[in-house]
Amino acid sequence: MKVFKALTIAGSDSGGGAGIQADLKTFQELDVFGMSAIVALTSQNTLGVHDVFPQSVEAVVSQIEAVATDLKPEAVKTGMLFSSDIIEVVAEQIKNHELDNLVVDPVMIAKGGGQLLQDDAIDSLVKSLIPKATVITPNLPEAARLTEVESIETISEMKKAAKRIHEFGAKHVLIKGGHLSSDQKAIDLLYDGFTYYSVSAERIDTKHTHGTGCTYSAAIAAELAKGHGLHKAVNKAKHYITCAIKHSLPIGSGIGPTSHRGHRLEV
Ligand code: PLP
Repeated sequence: MKVFKALTIAGSDSGGGAGIQADLKTFQELDVFGMSAIVALTSQNTLGVHDVFPQSVEAVVSQIEAVATDLKPEAVKTGMLFSSDIIEVVAEQIKNHELDNLVVDPVMIAKGGGQLLQDDAIDSLVKSLIPKATVITPNLPEAARLTEVESIETISEMKKAAKRIHEFGAKHVLIKGGHLSSDQKAIDLLYDGFTYYSVSAERIDTKHTHGTGCTYSAAIAAELAKGHGLHKAVNKAKHYITCAIKHSLPIGSGIGPTSHRGHRLEV
């Protein structure tokens, strides 16, 4: 039996709903063997981020090397990368080990308000990592920051941002429309440099969405690891994240996590 493997390079969420923990749960649910390189520890619960403890660049490089030289992943996702130094070594490792099927989730700020990427790291993200991405998955505030506009509030503004981010060198751009205000549907926009595709699902009214972005991008990486093309991987991942939000867990007293086993309840 062929075992498909995926690597997440991201931050740890002690609360278990986002970051490395969300990624590994998602890989497992989607029948992919999950591996991790932890770039920062966060002390976190449903109310917010209490502390961030970044790891050294040596620790990050060592983890990726250990995995890549023995357990070469079929797909990789990056999440919280925290600093410019970490982004630069992650990009270098991806190149040196010829890691393919790279999903870049440009994590910047947690829903509870914690800063997960330093302000001066955006430049490294744009110049060193985005050009290596098979797909980059910004939400609307992240897409606005990457394209240096005040805000993105319409589909036409999403299209403009997708085009600009594609020019940074990503093969595909998936702008997530979850933050769009008035829509009945949760519409994401996928752009490959030629055509805009809409990826839509029912919009679920819940406040318990902690870890949504991590989970969605991990699901895309898992589907790519299994050999699906990008469009199929995104469509399957959209179904997975919609189920996870639909069955999200009202635990803790803040923003609860999505349910990584939600997809099992929707067949
Ligand atoms: N904590 C870590 C370690 C993450 O990687 C992420 C990913 O975006 C978050 C928190 C964000 O979680 P939230 O969905 O609540 O914004």
